[in-house]
Amino acid sequence: MTSDNPLSSLDNRILDARDLLVELTQALIQVPTLNPPGLDYAAICDVLEDWLKPHGFDIKRVRAVGALGDSDKYPRWNLIARHEGRNSGECVHFNSHTDVVSVGEGWSVDPFEGIVKDGRVYGRGACDMKGGLAASMVAAVCFVAEHPEYSGSIEISGTCDEESGGFGGVAYLAEKGWFDPSRVQHVIIPEPLNKDRICLGHRGVLWTEIETHGHIAHGSMPFLGDCAVRHMGAVIEAFEDTLIPRLQQRRTAMPVVPDGARQSTLNINSIHGGQEEPEEGYTGLPSALVPDRCRMVVDRRFLIEEDLEAVRAELHDILESVKEDRDKFDYRVRELFSVLPTMTERDAPVVTAVAGAIKARLGTDPDYVVSPGTYDQKHIDRIGRLHNCIAYGPGILDLAHQPDEYVGIQDMIDSAQVMGRSLQTLLLKN
Ligand SMILES: [Zn+2]
Repeated sequence: MTSDNPLSSLDNRILDARDLLVELTQALIQVPTLNPPGLDYAAICDVLEDWLKPHGFDIKRVRAVGALGDSDKYPRWNLIARHEGRNSGECVHFNSHTDVVSVGEGWSVDPFEGIVKDGRVYGRGACDMKGGLAASMVAAVCFVAEHPEYSGSIEISGTCDEESGGFGGVAYLAEKGWFDPSRVQHVIIPEPLNKDRICLGHRGVLWTEIETHGHIAHGSMPFLGDCAVRHMGAVIEAFEDTLIPRLQQRRTAMPVVPDGARQSTLNINSIHGGQEEPEEGYTGLPSALVPDRCRMVVDRRFLIEEDLEAVRAELHDILESVKEDRDKFDYRVRELFSVLPTMTERDAPVVTAVAGAIKARLGTDPDYVVSPGTYDQKHIDRIGRLHNCIAYGPGILDLAHQPDEYVGIQDMIDSAQVMGRSLQTLLLKN
């Protein structure tokens, strides 16, 4: 248990909805919204609609036609549910992604059954983030029942494709104006960050593909060719000797967790040089060739103190320094993807509302954190131009994407109570 703070009437209403919360979480887990390929998005919208519509929510479904990943076989369906209060006022929006990552090995339970054991609901997506979605729905419905006279509106969205960049989900909705500050004023994303932590934002990302060029020749006479893999080896050496040590020195004021991510980082995501990998079952030998192409994808995560242009230039300078040292070094760079870092101010209204609710309900001050990786806040912030956005939700981040993923039922109740109290702060102003 978390504290001795007395439960409010709304807290008790949420506590009484425990069975409903568990059943809803199970129903969401039972729709196997695996991404890729992006399965059953329409089916999970059905679950959301069937649950929210009887509680007076107006339902809109939006398919991200033409977005990355959208096809007739795997349509990218999103749902936005809206409840209007009795008087005009601000809109609080809870956004959850409905997709889950692949199951992987090592499960001791059926990943799509949603079994309940030892006070936990198990299943793929239980923690990331169907438990958070269910908690926000129960919080919203209990708040409306407790305060039918409230001012403003509440929205709940279930969006697809977060695990693959969010282009068919929040990015698409943001482009269509759904997160315009004139219609939505506060956004809470119930990602699994622990019930006493507020996530203010994330580091930036730059994904780059580097290709080194050589010259093909017979492998018995490598001196007649030029080995692209050896050129790439020199690039890696420059990363090891120069870039990575430099990045490790670059610390940030962003409260990134875990602590190891409180600096700039570089990951070599993949590397390939020479002939294609043989197909499985192929028993022949490779042919003797000097590789003329080598390709590497690097994943650079950067800090709010860094500038994207400077991050690009730094990579370029490293490659140019390799070029100075090596005859015939030739390369090409292709940028794949970039996201700017974002961090909501601690005195933003949604932050202070949730912080106050954590303090009141759990008896502790929140930890303010920043995520090492990005999530859908990037689209709300950059495309939607809405900066009053945080991630707050139940579950333990470390369990996300793991086998035997689960969400604690008491965790869901506690965070639903925090969400309910946050709604009271934001929507009961008169
Ligand atoms: Zn997630």
